[in-house]
Amino acid sequence: NAVRMQAIKGVEAYVPPAVSFTAGETPGEVFGANVFSKAEMQKRLPKSVYKSVLATIDHAALLDPLVADAVAAAMKDWAMEKGATHYAHVFYPLTGLTAEKHDSFLEPAGDGSALAEFAGKTLTQGEPDASSFPSGGLRNTFEARGYTGWDVTSPAYVLESPNGNTLCIPTVFVSMNGDALDHKTPLLRSQQSMARHAERVLRLFGHAKPDAVVSFCGPEQEYFLVDRHFFLARPDLLNAGRTLFGAKPPKGQEFDDHYFGAIPGRVLGYMLDTERELFKLGIPAKTRHNEVAPGQFEIAPVFERANVAADHQQLLMTTFKRLARQHGMECLFHEKPFEGINGSGKHVNFSLGNATEGNLLLPGDTPHENAQFLVFCAAVIRGVHKYGGLLRASVASASNDHRLGANEAPPAIISIFLGDQLADVFDQVAKGGATSSKEKGTLIIGVDTLPVLPTDPGDRNRTSPFAFTGNRFEFRAPGSQQTVAGPMVTINTIMAEALDHIATELETAVAAGTEFNVAVQKLLEKIMTDHGAIVFNGDGYSDDWQVEAAARGLPNLRTTLDALPELVSESAMELFGTYGVFSEREMHSRYEIGLEHYALSVGVEARLTLEVGATSVLPAAVRHQTEVALNLGALRAAGVEPDATALEEVTAPLAELRSALATLRSALDERGGSTAMEGARHAQDALLPAIAAVRAAADVLEGVVADDLWPLPTYQEMLYIL
Ligand code: ADP
Ligand code: MG
Repeated sequence: NAVRMQAIKGVEAYVPPAVSFTAGETPGEVFGANVFSKAEMQKRLPKSVYKSVLATIDHAALLDPLVADAVAAAMKDWAMEKGATHYAHVFYPLTGLTAEKHDSFLEPAGDGSALAEFAGKTLTQGEPDASSFPSGGLRNTFEARGYTGWDVTSPAYVLESPNGNTLCIPTVFVSMNGDALDHKTPLLRSQQSMARHAERVLRLFGHAKPDAVVSFCGPEQEYFLVDRHFFLARPDLLNAGRTLFGAKPPKGQEFDDHYFGAIPGRVLGYMLDTERELFKLGIPAKTRHNEVAPGQFEIAPVFERANVAADHQQLLMTTFKRLARQHGMECLFHEKPFEGINGSGKHVNFSLGNATEGNLLLPGDTPHENAQFLVFCAAVIRGVHKYGGLLRASVASASNDHRLGANEAPPAIISIFLGDQLADVFDQVAKGGATSSKEKGTLIIGVDTLPVLPTDPGDRNRTSPFAFTGNRFEFRAPGSQQTVAGPMVTINTIMAEALDHIATELETAVAAGTEFNVAVQKLLEKIMTDHGAIVFNGDGYSDDWQVEAAARGLPNLRTTLDALPELVSESAMELFGTYGVFSEREMHSRYEIGLEHYALSVGVEARLTLEVGATSVLPAAVRHQTEVALNLGALRAAGVEPDATALEEVTAPLAELRSALATLRSALDERGGSTAMEGARHAQDALLPAIAAVRAAADVLEGVVADDLWPLPTYQEMLYIL
């Protein structure tokens, strides 16, 4: 096939750009070079202004409106020195993507000239038209006004591009009534609420004036790289982000030869280039390695406070997409771009802490004596048990449905892994009080020259959706292309509820004269009795767990449509309302948007399947069939009685393809009903099976039709030629 051969030749001939990680500067000069950092502010702002901004950033003090003018002026000067001509309020609408509205610094002065201006009010507030963003019914189309508002706690930065530099200001995005139209607003609200109740608990532990508590997020990002020549020849990858056709290659991931393997030279160049870009933007890129599937990789930046991590995570994804193109590749963030091999997730590592106490989820060597740690850990246990369904809903999407519960990602049942040591301590707690902690061991390897290696008190568990990993919890269910804001909002809010409950119980007990330690033990015992069922240290991939989880009463919300209704359940409304994170209207809007997005994505896949199936796969199969039939005729004419198997081999799947395409076409013609749920149900129940049937027939044909007639780049080509 000419298209495929050309693509392969194109890959062979491609020369990737040269990359230098430091390009003459020291790493110290590169890191944060394009960020309007605290250090930069300190240099440029009057002392009192700087102190005031710092109080807001570090101690959650109310933003003093008077400082905005001074900050804006300094920010503008700094950005213009960096070559910026425009500024943009950057926000995170409910599309899950990043949006930006650009304005020039130049303002006409009235005498025909123009001045570079950037006033405080321009920094703090913008007014982009909101009418074309999803609002889930929060806004009538005639009420187009939306507002962006400066998030002081997430630093501004200059984004460089060959076509000009832009000062970017992270903002929230709300409607005229203050309804959140974005992912950042609820994240900040949930953070504030969680902090308030965490501080109450800290006061009970004798910290009279605790420093502001924040939640931290360390997002690990998995992704695939595919050469752009192949990508452009696959309409399904181009428009749906995943392959809707493609037979399993002769070699898959069964050798486990890619995981942690040597990174291919071209990919390493790309990684260096992306990391350099991230460094300039102050994003602490740290870990990189090959992932399990061929063509799959991972990057993990160091954790940061959740709202900054969320902004940086979005910026990371756009940077990865942009630079991949400069390196002749496409970066895929879809949860399951290739069937039959591992998909991609985005693990969200969560902890909370403050400047004086540090990480509140640090157990120390003897966790049984660390009551404060046990209390914060118990809060996680209570929250995850009470609101597991909400956590599941926070990662629900059409694309993540292909990954969750397969043999590469945690099941849809939410449970907690504590590890041997902690599970044992909490067992003791439940039985009346913990008196010992299993100790760290040392590894005996049997070689004298090797150093003595200490072992952790607990093993890792790769199958648990919510695992304690030494000093944090790792939520492994989020999908690779989703924003981390959604899961973080849920985690913060369920923590707010649990910490509120804990603080209230302890305050009441102490006021009634119970000794504090006794009250703590009683409370922990009660939490473990009521919520211990969420702790599961076994194999989450096994079938037994499905049965046991059901017996424990843990929900198993397999699909997006099972999970999304959790968002509008009474308990969810009450939770998010009480902690000021979402109003009922906002919850309804998110539910509607989730359903709409589901139906839209499946709809695109259905139309793509129809298009590629009818106009590429079917004609190739027909040509092949014709060739085989002609050959049979020629043989008969030559007096040879031919074997007709080859004709049957193509004719049977071809008939199946035709009938599957007809079914898909009529399913697409049907209206899915008028409500968002009916539309989504139609997508799930009618479109998805019809898409799968077309694919099944096409994948059989791929194994039959002559290779030079096959129109689509194969799995082998896409996964192994880089
Ligand atoms: P893994 O072995 O789980 O794949 P990685 O090194 O790939 O680990 O990623 C771990 C992530 O967890 C990193 O983003 C790291 O910064 C983050 N992390 C480490 N400690 C904490 C913490 N206390 N709170 C939140 N995130 C953390
Ligand atoms: Mg990792």
